Amino acid sequence: MHEQTGFAVAIDGPVGVGKSTAARILAANLNMIYIDTGAMYRAVALYNMRMGTDKKDAQAIAASLPDIEIAFTPAGSVLLNGEDVSADIRNQAIADYTSTIAAYAPVREKLTAQQRQLARSGHVVMDGRDISSQVLPWAQVKIYLDADPRIRAKRRFEELQAKGQPAEYARVWEETLIRDERDINRAFAPLVQTEDAIYIDTSYMNLDKMVAEITRHVERELRV
Ligand code: C5P
Repeated sequence: MHEQTGFAVAIDGPVGVGKSTAARILAANLNMIYIDTGAMYRAVALYNMRMGTDKKDAQAIAASLPDIEIAFTPAGSVLLNGEDVSADIRNQAIADYTSTIAAYAPVREKLTAQQRQLARSGHVVMDGRDISSQVLPWAQVKIYLDADPRIRAKRRFEELQAKGQPAEYARVWEETLIRDERDINRAFAPLVQTEDAIYIDTSYMNLDKMVAEITRHVERELRV
């Protein structure tokens, strides 16, 4: 049963396609709430990394879930048990750990339930891998963003450099492929393009064009 209350825009796509940046701007422009589901998976990963848990220990990760509380501040910061971890969750080590633990069913069940709950709080733009297929299959607008993997790796690399994080292009490229592979091939809620999603290839679009393109589809639906 999916309880539909507000208006929802679901944005899915692979690593480094620019989903979060575009979704955040779109939400601000349309006065909607932005929910970064990747940040929630990253927060679960951070908690377990800090505990020293092996990412392959699915049982230990599942056992940690009752001790993890994730929330967003109105400004969009991510809170892990009350601590602002927005900066701590953005690095390559966390991204890698996250894509392993995101395959575990108990992790997905917990976060999916919370994401649906968050969507009941108003009009939302939610981005991730399984938003159109699992979390909000009732969303009025479903967008699948895609781009050439080399371009995505380049974007990730430039993003890391801009944040002053040490990065090597060859490593970012390899990690992009590994994360894609894990997200696409996992048994529970893999990354898929649903039949009713609008496919947008962003390989040769800048951010403004990407946001304009998504906005066009959302506004068409809002007018209906
Ligand atoms: O989007 P972001 O790079 O922050 O996501 C980090 C990881 O979290 C992804 O590689 C994926 O494994 C996982 N994820 C997921 N489902 C979502 C959002 C993120 O499995 N809805």
